[in-house]
Amino acid sequence: MLNHWLEIIYLIASITFVGGLKLLGNPESARRGNLIAAFGMTLAIIGTLTLHGREVETLVYVLIFAAIAIGTVIGWLTAKKVQMTKMPELVSLFNGMGGACAALISLIEFEHNVGDGTKIGIILAGMIIGSVSFSGSMIAFAKLNGTLNKSIRIPGYNMINNLILVGLVVFATYMVMSGSESTTLAYVLFASALIYGILFVIPIGGADMPVVISLLNSFTGLAAAFGGFLYGNMVMLTGGILVGSAGTILTLAMCKAMNRPLSNVIFGAFGDGAATTGGGGGGVQGSVREVSVTDVAVLMNYSQRVVIVPGYGLAVAQAQHVIHELEELLESRGVQVKYAIHPVAGRMPGHMNVLLAESNVAYEKLVEMEDINPEFPQTDVVLVLGANDVVNPAAHNDPSSPIYGMPILDVENAKQVIVNKRSMKPGYAGIENELFFNPKTGMLFGDAKDAIQKVLNEIKNM
Ligand code: NDP
Repeated sequence: MLNHWLEIIYLIASITFVGGLKLLGNPESARRGNLIAAFGMTLAIIGTLTLHGREVETLVYVLIFAAIAIGTVIGWLTAKKVQMTKMPELVSLFNGMGGACAALISLIEFEHNVGDGTKIGIILAGMIIGSVSFSGSMIAFAKLNGTLNKSIRIPGYNMINNLILVGLVVFATYMVMSGSESTTLAYVLFASALIYGILFVIPIGGADMPVVISLLNSFTGLAAAFGGFLYGNMVMLTGGILVGSAGTILTLAMCKAMNRPLSNVIFGAFGDGAATTGGGGGGVQGSVREVSVTDVAVLMNYSQRVVIVPGYGLAVAQAQHVIHELEELLESRGVQVKYAIHPVAGRMPGHMNVLLAESNVAYEKLVEMEDINPEFPQTDVVLVLGANDVVNPAAHNDPSSPIYGMPILDVENAKQVIVNKRSMKPGYAGIENELFFNPKTGMLFGDAKDAIQKVLNEIKNM
């Protein structure tokens, strides 16, 4: 009877995961989706702890509750404190913990299941994938927080990595086929998978990091799903499959947004981090036209259609509230204002959506790249706010550029372009931007929050 209740609880939890994931697809319902899925997970944990129907020593409960308490406090505090710009590294760290969990479960269950070939196969698969996800995520974390700030490439690294991968698969297959009972071999496999995870991520750098994190995320999901399969635990299986498939879809979507095949990301071609050395985009010549706050205020106040292009600089300056104020003021004067959202603007997927949602910008005002691009010719003013690579025409015009082929926001088709940034320094890809030298473009130098506040004050006085 107990088990029936547990099955029902797992079913409810699985439904909350699917429903929660669906709600995450829209910024307005995302918070609710998260809470619903978290509720389902809490229910599943409580159900498992109370309805498992086995004899368990009190000490085990004490350890489980202590672990839950410590994990909850650390997770809560870190998530509360983290800045938006540091989110990708936090995701990487948390994801690594999931991978470690799956790998450790496999390591423990190996001993309990020797002799059962099918289960050992599942256990070793979970162990390899979980370990790769853990060590790979730790390297990604170190890269993103700047501890490891170079992409290290040993000669022939692709060949070495592929050989190790094949070695891992052969090793695991041998253990299953031979019915090996050796825990030492299991530990060797575990250690080798950890090493592979490090070598897999170390050469990858630059804008490819979020793609790798998302891929590692899907690995963790897969490893958890193997765990669910092993225990015949439906909620673990469903959760794992959902994480695995969502991670895979996100990985492919990001590759598409950057116009790079996944193989290109994994086997490296972004140069030793285009972020560090750059390349292409040379030969941009001419002079830039600097404009004043008053020029920009007049131009925007007397326009009919304005499009704002937010980028990484908006997040750095924390200018999301002041830009929303400017948008409302312009709208109250009869100016139509929209935001153009590039899929990789900022430093993580959905970065701009999250940032603008924080300042209560209406979701309908955020327009995706494919939908806004045809509107630029009818736009009077485009205000590029701390964005650079995502509006760089080199993506269309310069085959030698590292961003060549990446879809961009075609802002140069608008009647006037105002670019706000602090200097003439390049963006993430480390390359010049010919948009800044376009006669249509006026450069408003300064910190985004400060500059927009001044434009706002100026318009208020008109
Ligand atoms: P970029 O990094 O290309 O440009 C940001 C610009 O903001 C810089 O040129 C900088 O110029 C300016 N800036 C910085 N601080 C401020 C400030 N306080 N006030 C005003 N301006 C400021 O950003 P984009 O959003 O255009 O492009 C994103 C890039 O990041 C792409 O190359 C993308 O591939 C990559 N990427 C995206 C990820 C994602 O998932 N979204 C993840 C990782 C990388 P200055 O210093 O002169 O002020």
